[in-house]
Amino acid sequence: MPEGVVGVARLVPVTQAEGPGRRTALWVQGCSIRCPGCFNPQMWTRRGGVKRNVDELASEIIAGATAGDVEGVTILGGEPFEQAAPLARLAALVQAAGLSVMTFTGYELPVLRTWAVGRSDIATLLRSTDLLADGPFLQDRLDVSRPWIGSTNQGLHALTKRYADRLSALNQEADRLEIRVNRDGLVAVNGWADTETLDRLLAGVGRRGDGPRRS
Ligand code: SF4
Repeated sequence: MPEGVVGVARLVPVTQAEGPGRRTALWVQGCSIRCPGCFNPQMWTRRGGVKRNVDELASEIIAGATAGDVEGVTILGGEPFEQAAPLARLAALVQAAGLSVMTFTGYELPVLRTWAVGRSDIATLLRSTDLLADGPFLQDRLDVSRPWIGSTNQGLHALTKRYADRLSALNQEADRLEIRVNRDGLVAVNGWADTETLDRLLAGVGRRGDGPRRS
């Protein structure tokens, strides 16, 4: 992938189901972790998605955030830390514009911190992330109590002061499922639900393959 280019699977300009408040959600393309039960297996390959120039994407996100009264950007996937260099730039740009950054990763924070010693892109993405949700999705350890989190091994970490004093309150927020019906009739889901709940909710409704699981 050329420098300054990021593989994007999906961009939702405004959602209330992918982190605190109103947020822009950016799903990136490619994940080598491949957790059994992942709801976004179509985002595993690096070959899919759309290649976007990072600076242009950041400008689009910042302009949309202003218009949509958005407090931050959530980066999920796919695996953001497998495209750490362009996403570090994107995160730094949107933070500089006053937006918060929440990043989901299938890697655990201590591992990322070890890698960050020799990888400035990983170090910068960590430094430009206000809220990190970490760890692989384990389908035998489903977490239905915390918001945004898929399994009990995963954690929410405040890496800057931005959400530090709200971390325990955030962990107790109700999880949300957002069902969006586009003008063309396509139905898309943001947030988390197990397959049975999702099937019940969407019974009789056309359904698009965008997955509800975040990382
Ligand atoms: S759950 Fe997340 S980390 Fe695991 S395979 Fe899916 S996208 Fe990758």
